[in-house]
Amino acid sequence: MSSSSFAPTPVLRPRLPDADRLLPYLRRIDQNRVYANFGPLALELAERLAARFSLSGENIVTAASGTAALIGAILGTVGRAGGERPLALVPGFSFIATAVAAESCGYEVVFADVDERSGLLEPAGALNHPLLDRIGLVIPVGAFGKGIPQSGWVDFGEKTGVGVVIDGAACFEAIDRAPGELLGDIPVAVSFHATKSFASGEGGCAIAGDADAARNIVRALNFGFYGSRECRAASINGKMSEYHAAVGLAELDGWSEKSRALTAVADQYRKSLKEAGLDGRFLGAPETASCYALFGCKSAREGQGLSEYLEARGIGGRFWYGGGGHREPYFAPRPALRVVEETAGALFGLPVAPDLEPEKISEIVSWIAAFEKLA
Ligand SMILES: *Cc1c(COP(=O)(O)O)cnc(C)c1O
Repeated sequence: MSSSSFAPTPVLRPRLPDADRLLPYLRRIDQNRVYANFGPLALELAERLAARFSLSGENIVTAASGTAALIGAILGTVGRAGGERPLALVPGFSFIATAVAAESCGYEVVFADVDERSGLLEPAGALNHPLLDRIGLVIPVGAFGKGIPQSGWVDFGEKTGVGVVIDGAACFEAIDRAPGELLGDIPVAVSFHATKSFASGEGGCAIAGDADAARNIVRALNFGFYGSRECRAASINGKMSEYHAAVGLAELDGWSEKSRALTAVADQYRKSLKEAGLDGRFLGAPETASCYALFGCKSAREGQGLSEYLEARGIGGRFWYGGGGHREPYFAPRPALRVVEETAGALFGLPVAPDLEPEKISEIVSWIAAFEKLA
């Protein structure tokens, strides 16, 4: 092994635009003396994203985080929990932010199991849920950045009258490839957290199909204000600052380069794993967002073993969704969710960085191969 193997490799080493790339945008902030409240840079970021997605700028509402975007989309389009349908259905296979957002809008969270093949909460799963008549909100999640097509959920909404908001936090790349299929009447929340492929540090946006919905989301993220300083709706302060918009704009400037670098990491993992005879065990870009490189273990038990084996060799890793949201201490105890538990504990996140060297990837894969021989 090379000496570099002694330097620990973190599961994710993000790289956002450097100071030189930020400077022109920071100078504009100095000039504008506007720092918040959907300022000129935040609006420009919305415009540039909208142009990529063949929408108009007003369809994109920038937000302080992906979670804020999700809360804004819930409050602005479905509303706070109330009445006969106080429950929110959320797949257990997600980052816990999905459940946190639903709960902060007043819903009692019900965790759903996911489809065995897709790993997603599918419309049929929600339709057949035993608590359907008490569910007022469903949040399908694009796990690991897999896109959620609008059509099935639009049908679900029409059939049931239940509000739907899509957690597409990691779906920037999927949306970028297929905006026509993934964007529409159901709002989609996207995260620009540093760990996501496209990042502004903290940040995100809600993407709404129509301008009325977008306006309601703006209001929900700005104290219930819209066009006046009267609070007229349930709300938070979830707006993106101009400084984060600056990072987002610089990130867009360098996006094709970063995207290429992250995709190359996935390609290298796939190639090395194939050479090691571990073909078919990799899940990464383009099936997932390029910030994830996942190794499919045969069981949660093997996953635990691999995680410890690699950690002892200075190689970081993560079960990105823990053991499933239903197992997080705050929400537990909840009924077991078979597919979620099998999947979340077996999909092991390997190190990713835009500048992760091919040699390092080969080294990581050779350790995985060594572990697999022991297993
Ligand atoms: C990252 C992520 C979030 C949270 O986004 P933040 O920007 O960190 O608030 C929510 N849901 C999923 C599925 C995520 O991956």
